[in-house]
Amino acid sequence: MMRQFMRIILLSATLFAATAFSGSAHAVGTYALCANWQYAFVDAGLGEDFLLNSSGSYGSVAAASFYARVYRNGQQIWSGTLSSIGCSGQVSATAGSYQLRVWTMAAAGSGGNIVIYRDLNTFPVYYATWGSLPELSSGLSLKFVTFGNSYSEVYVASTIGQLEQGAPEARFVDNHDYNIYADVSCAGDLSCNNEGAAYVGGHIVIGGVPIPDNHWKAIILHELGHEIFISQFGTITGAGGYNEPCSGCALKCRCDNVSGDEGNRAHCINSREYGYAAQQEGLAQFHAVDVLNNPNDGDALLPYYKEFQWGNGASDYLPPPVGIGAYFNPPSRWVATNCSASLTGSELDWMQFYWRVNNKDTNKYSIMDIVHVYQTACGGDCSNFGGVQWDNTRWAVENIHGIQSPKATYWKDQLQNQRVNL
Ligand SMILES: [Zn+2]
Repeated sequence: MMRQFMRIILLSATLFAATAFSGSAHAVGTYALCANWQYAFVDAGLGEDFLLNSSGSYGSVAAASFYARVYRNGQQIWSGTLSSIGCSGQVSATAGSYQLRVWTMAAAGSGGNIVIYRDLNTFPVYYATWGSLPELSSGLSLKFVTFGNSYSEVYVASTIGQLEQGAPEARFVDNHDYNIYADVSCAGDLSCNNEGAAYVGGHIVIGGVPIPDNHWKAIILHELGHEIFISQFGTITGAGGYNEPCSGCALKCRCDNVSGDEGNRAHCINSREYGYAAQQEGLAQFHAVDVLNNPNDGDALLPYYKEFQWGNGASDYLPPPVGIGAYFNPPSRWVATNCSASLTGSELDWMQFYWRVNNKDTNKYSIMDIVHVYQTACGGDCSNFGGVQWDNTRWAVENIHGIQSPKATYWKDQLQNQRVNL
């Protein structure tokens, strides 16, 4: 990934030099026209291997698999889906005025799309222009950078563009559309998944200043994670909502210091939750850290977007963004160590569990293997199951792989290793 990125940067530099030396207005060449999204994420620079840039600075990422059209002097000369590095097919081109339009719609599997909306009615299109093409030999690429850093859907699109490069493991099923609303809140000014669509429209407060959820790549990937898993096996629901009532339990098991509205305190990565809720949210956190890191990374961090309560003192918390480890050895065992109660869990413990079963052994479970476990545990749809617990997943892996099989044993060992088997 890094080598590829460097190559594009070097190529751009070459192109600028070539532009300066170009004397002919009618040079003919064969070009791939490439599109990048610009972004400046609030939670950049916290240990991720992909979507790299330092905090507060602008970066760009390929518009991978997005739909695009190329125009010369106002006339369309190419349309289709951009490649995994954001490029069109090779087009024969002369000097002229070029325009690239990129839609916020990416191909997802065969016959499916990820569609990003700004609100319920608009479907944004982005433009980038080259005044002329430089004189070059055949087979080179020209890079367009889509402008519009202030627009929310660019943040969402640049994050999704990263899926193709950062996490090539299959996670989208064929013939299924995924809808994301880039600037639309759920009730209570929150981001969420609701009835088959992801909404990234709330805000996180830092030092009294609200920052849109759209500007946090981990939030975008979290909500997209819900969208992917809910599309496969429904919502892991249960009676009682998120937080297992623990009014008397330690601060480390609560969200008291999470700033913003009360809705943001409904759950946080360190809070004690009902077991089913901890799985549902842990899966979404895992999806975010999975896309941003190499599969075997031993120091993968989730750039977490709420206050993290690391101790039991009133001021023992860190403001966002906080780098939370997806792989601790020994594991955090957060709930078992700090706030144990039967049939409870935390997003932190489950995120670490999924990271381990997905990455750390020859018996690893792919994204679709994990999907299969939950489909089996729930008999298809978890929305009507009534609260999946760790024991249901144990039964499922034994059913799929055999009670004594190394793969089932690996899942069960990690349940115990992370102490999510409460
Ligand atoms: Zn969530």
